[in-house]
Amino acid sequence: MSRQKIHLLTEQNGIESGVLDEVPRKKQKKEIESEITDDGGNENENENEKGNGNGKAEESDEFDDLEDTVRTETVGLKYTDSDIYLDTVNRKVLNFDMPLICSVSLATTNIHICLVCNRYLQGASLSSPAFTHAVDTNHHVYINTQTSKFIILPEQLVLSENRSKDLRDIQLLLQPKFGKQLISELDSRPLEGKTMAGEAYDVGFVPLVNDYMSDIIDTRFDAKEGNSILKHNTLYYALLHLPLVRDHLLEYKNSESTPLSNQLSNLTKKIWSPYLFKNFTSSFAIEYYLLSCRLPTKILDDVRLFYTWILNTLMKENKKLYKDLFTGKLVSKGGAKPIKFINLTVKLPQQSVFKGSTSLSIEQYDLMTLIKEKGYQVLKFPQYLVIYIDRTNDVQLEGIEQQLNKSIVKFDPNTLQLNERTNYKLLANITDSKVQVLDKSRKRWMEFDGVGVKEVEKELLFIANSQLQIWEK
Ligand SMILES: [Zn+2]
Repeated sequence: MSRQKIHLLTEQNGIESGVLDEVPRKKQKKEIESEITDDGGNENENENEKGNGNGKAEESDEFDDLEDTVRTETVGLKYTDSDIYLDTVNRKVLNFDMPLICSVSLATTNIHICLVCNRYLQGASLSSPAFTHAVDTNHHVYINTQTSKFIILPEQLVLSENRSKDLRDIQLLLQPKFGKQLISELDSRPLEGKTMAGEAYDVGFVPLVNDYMSDIIDTRFDAKEGNSILKHNTLYYALLHLPLVRDHLLEYKNSESTPLSNQLSNLTKKIWSPYLFKNFTSSFAIEYYLLSCRLPTKILDDVRLFYTWILNTLMKENKKLYKDLFTGKLVSKGGAKPIKFINLTVKLPQQSVFKGSTSLSIEQYDLMTLIKEKGYQVLKFPQYLVIYIDRTNDVQLEGIEQQLNKSIVKFDPNTLQLNERTNYKLLANITDSKVQVLDKSRKRWMEFDGVGVKEVEKELLFIANSQLQIWEK
């Protein structure tokens, strides 16, 4: 875009919107343009060569279809090296955990986030919600959520690579970067992050907090029960602490054909990010994605069914990896044909009511014994063995159904010896409302209860009502 052209567009816009104080804005633009460096100019030329070489992209701005704009709007825009608006960036309000949806048009592509007020807005063109927001509110600095480039609006300038370094922490908040070295050390070297307020947090062990967002965004979320989100969070937490799943997702490059992997990858990168501004993150985006999957409540509310759905979907997206990690083969008692499994189920015997009492008996069972009683002959042990402890109850106590069998299942987290050659160690233990995961780097167990994460004694893990466990070979 030529300078004359920017000028022309500004004039047009001033006339169209009728809300601009033209004189100071033009002055600002002039200042910005005068500070465009050679570097910036070169980058711009390269960008033009790669993209729309004739620089005519802007002419079609008024005909943008807001729903379908997929081109990267930075192509053809001029670079600036100026820091003129950068002091208006308000890091305190920044939160990049929400689903990428334009708060005006509800479009889901080409979303920019206003770095002054955290609004999610589509586009950068003249007719776009982001542009209008810039004009209406005098908010100038935006980040493109696809490219991580900073856009200055309504001037329609891209911040140069060099100047973008001043906002590098914001790029890393949006898209944390993980080198091979960092990933390879996650289980051996404890890593500490520092929040914007200077508080230290243990990387990999921040809580997922979803409730604070319900008043900020789409009311469709209000209909969803908090309890099912908590259940989902415990499962995400467990899965994303399995080293081979985590490492794969940290290195994962999002692809249009793998929506669930994309979502889980984004969440993994946030949970394991050393660059968080606050010491928590959120699964809001993935929960929003689940809405579009229209799953029956039965699946959403049941940890085993939800796990099955997640794993089957992941296997559709990357059969080799997830099949290798989670699928085993067994012959069931009295069966002839080997069958594949992604989890072993053990059912607890029904609880009984003490005679003349109003309380249920709390029995104790040994996990190994429960598995042996099933009489499975396991032909292939998976890398990650998932055990589902079925706690559904048919017992009534004073007319009230006791849905959760609270019998204790004892196990040793260090060893589950399924045959002479196959030993498993516990990595994650999901209960009806919590999840406990092994922190390998600090050799301790951490418990996420839906609000916070705290250390828990290994010896006491079995006291919680385990429902889904993940063991590592
Ligand atoms: Zn704003």
